This record gives sequence, structure tokens and C-alpha cells, in this order.
Amino acid sequence: KINNKDDVIKAIETHNVKFIRLQFTDIQGIVKDVEIPVTQIQKALTTGISFDGSSVEGMVRIDESDMVLRPDTQTFAILPWGNDKCVVARMICDVYLPDGKAFEADPRYVLKKIIKEAEDMGYQFNVGPELEFFLFAKENGKATTIPNDYGRYFEFAPTDLAEDIRRDIVLTLTDLNFDIEASHHEVAFGQHEIDFKYGDALSTADNVVTFKYVTRTIAKTYGLHATFMPKPIATENGSGMHINLSLSKEGKNAFYDPDADMQISDIARHFIAGVLDHIKAISCIANPLVNSYKRLIPGYEAPVYITWSGANRSSLIRIPSPRGNSTRTELRSPDPSCNPYLTFAAILAAGLEGIKNRNEPPKIMDQNVFDLTPGELKERSIETLPSTINESCDCLEKDELLREKLGAHVHDNILRLARAEWDAYRTQVHEWEVNRYLNAF
Ligand code: ADP
Ligand code: GLU
Ligand code: MG
Ligand code: MG
Repeated sequence: KINNKDDVIKAIETHNVKFIRLQFTDIQGIVKDVEIPVTQIQKALTTGISFDGSSVEGMVRIDESDMVLRPDTQTFAILPWGNDKCVVARMICDVYLPDGKAFEADPRYVLKKIIKEAEDMGYQFNVGPELEFFLFAKENGKATTIPNDYGRYFEFAPTDLAEDIRRDIVLTLTDLNFDIEASHHEVAFGQHEIDFKYGDALSTADNVVTFKYVTRTIAKTYGLHATFMPKPIATENGSGMHINLSLSKEGKNAFYDPDADMQISDIARHFIAGVLDHIKAISCIANPLVNSYKRLIPGYEAPVYITWSGANRSSLIRIPSPRGNSTRTELRSPDPSCNPYLTFAAILAAGLEGIKNRNEPPKIMDQNVFDLTPGELKERSIETLPSTINESCDCLEKDELLREKLGAHVHDNILRLARAEWDAYRTQVHEWEVNRYLNAF
């Protein structure tokens, strides 16, 4: 286990590391990386390494662009690429301003800030994401949407053509200190899922970022394209990133109460109420693409209605059956194109607010919500998630709590980017429109 600078130096010597990749993410969760030769490690660990923040999405204005990367030594890991002669390690970094202050719009900083608020209330936030992805064939070096196989949920040989690839990804992630729980073919053609053990929110957000580039890199060595795009094929399930959430207090699961109704605690109920209150605004962060909203439609195991339930998978939030230390809620709307730091931060901020105000969630949904008629939905005042990124923007814009907790800089930049994304989309004429209207009108 690597904890401090001395441990890093020792590991570099032991493994004969020659290069170190310093990584962070932009506001969209896209990995940014600069490589230093090992000769620069002392400098990186003491003063940090400078970069131009104005060239990174969502960072700073042009007149204040000098930023500094400071590696978090606990994230040191040997990357499985490179060879014996050229061992490569990585560290995930925090972003600082030249005056030595933490940069308030670094997604990692935003998450750390809200984790600290939870800690001040006595809670540790535990997160277990389930990432789904597609493997597609390539033609002439370019990605297609032709699935690598025609397997379905839990499919086995000879239909599942990705068992070797999934294993390769699992072994690589294990080398990077992941604790893998299971992997399987998912419902859609060419779709897969690999689950890893939950952990504290910061390491888990780091892990989500690592998971995505490892998966894409390994797929590439098999001549395939892996994608975390939320809905690549209109008529198939999309890819979600369900997030399992729990709080612990003094080492005990704070969502479990053996004597309570459903054996879930008041804290769990208040947390759920807080998340439900803010979920429309959270969608702008957890479902950040135009394409994200093509997944959130009926018929494809993705949520549409703002409800919570027991084990029933039709709700936005469900309580999986395990209790005791495994008591958790599963939020089913996020997709893997989101920035995990900002997504976890927004969810935690909303949940903590529910706890502070002792909010009560609406009545639990005890049946398949997709079986309700429009009349029944209306009668029970069941609302829906936003249906476009533009609608999500309207909700995030109005959300004062998230503006305060994420900070004005992040809040403004998320909205600016998402609105631009929507504008780029709505000003196109799509093939669907031409096919439908050209001859009819
Ligand atoms: P599903 O039944 O929805 O397919 P999975 O078994 O695929 O669920 O995934 C469950 C996830 O929940 C795993 O990442 C697991 O580590 C995580 N998990 C288990 N216990 C907790 C907990 N107490 N808090 C948060 N996450 C948890
Ligand atoms: N792929 C589905 C989604 O879009 C989820 C399937 C599942 O329950 O694992 O969320
Ligand atoms: Mg799944
Ligand atoms: Mg799930």
C-alpha cells in the first residue's frame, strides 16, 4: 500500500519505473494526462508540475491559465502498458492555482469538499457503480455500431464472443488494485458489464475513470471498439451506470435498521428523499449528453419515472434485497458518460440535504411503474425525469443547493457546455426527419 512520497520513491526503484503519467479530468470527466520521465519525480512530488488550464475544458479563463498538478501519492499504480525496459506508472492529481490554493473547479476537489461535509456529520459515503459498455467491430480502423457478438444477458459460449476480452480487462484491473466481483454479458447484443467492489466515493470515482480507459485500451488490442456511449443502438438497451449508495457511521452501515419498516433506517429514507428532490438537476450531471436521454425511455430497463421501491427494478431508486452491511440504495439513472466526481458529489450533496431537513420520500412504489396508466400516474403525482439535456439544464439552472455545493464556476460551465451540446444537436437536420417528411409534405 502506497501512502506517501517515500513509498512512491521506493516503488519507483523496486519496479524500475521509467515514466510517470500524471492524470486529472476535465469537467466532462475526460482524462487529461502528461507524462514525466522519472528524473522529474522529486519536482512533481514537491512543487508540482505546471500546465495551461485555459486549454482544458471547464478550467479557467485565458488570463489566469497557469495551473499546477500535484499527484495524490495514494493513487500510484503501475500501468499494464509499456514493457520490462520501460515500466510506466500513473498518479491521479489534484489541481492547484499558482498561489498554492486548491482550484475550486477541479472535479476531484468538488467531490472532496462534499465528502468532508459528510464526514463533519459523522458519515462515510460508500459507492458501488455498475458500468455497462458495448464492444463494436471496427472497419478500416474506424469504430462501427456492429456488435462483436449476438449474445444476450448472461450468455455463455459459443454465443458470447467476449469472454477472453472481459477476462483480460478483469486481470488488468486486478493489477491496478481493483477488487472485481463479477463480469457477464449484458442484455443487448455486444453489451457487457464488469462489477467491482464498492469503496469510499473518492477512490471509486478514480476507479471509474481508470475502468473506462483500461476497458477501451484492452478492447483495442483485440481489434474492437469499446464505448460507454449511453445509447448507441436505438432498438437495444442502453448502457447505464447504476450507482449503489450507502452511508456508514462509526464503521456501521447507517442505512440498516433491523427494527424498522423494510429494515431501512430513517437516515436512508431522508437520504433518498433528498436525492429524489434534486434528481432532475442531477440529471444534467449524471446524464450529460444529448444521447443520454435516448436511453431514459420505457421498454429498455432504464428509469423514466421519479419513484423509489424495494427490489423492483422499474423504479429510479430501488433497495436491493441484501441487508446488514450490504444495505444500500441503487440509483439507476446515471450513465457511464458522466463525470463520476461531479456525479457522486451532486448525489451526496442532495442526500445530505435530505438528512439535514429530515425529508420524507413520497409513498413507496410497490409495483411495476410502467404498468400504471397515464391516469394513475397523474393521480399519484408521479413525475418524470427530464426528457432532454435542455430540460435538465433548466432544472440545474434553478437548483440553488447544487449551485452552492458544486460552486458557481462548475455550475456555470456544466450549463454552458450542455446548452452548447443541445444547440449543436437541434440545429442539425437528422436523417429521420428527411425520411419522414421529404415525400409526405
Ligand atoms: P445488481 O443486483 O443491481 O445487478 P450488482 O451485484 O451487479 O447489483 O452490483 C452491486 C454493487 O453494489 C457492487 O458494486 C457492490 O460492491 C456494491 N455494494 C455492495 N454493498 C454496498 C454498500 N453497502 N454500499 C454501496 N455499495 C455496495
Ligand atoms: N442496461 C440497463 C440500463 O440502461 C440496465 C440493465 C440492468 O438492470 O442491469 O440502465
Ligand atoms: Mg447491468
Ligand atoms: Mg444494478
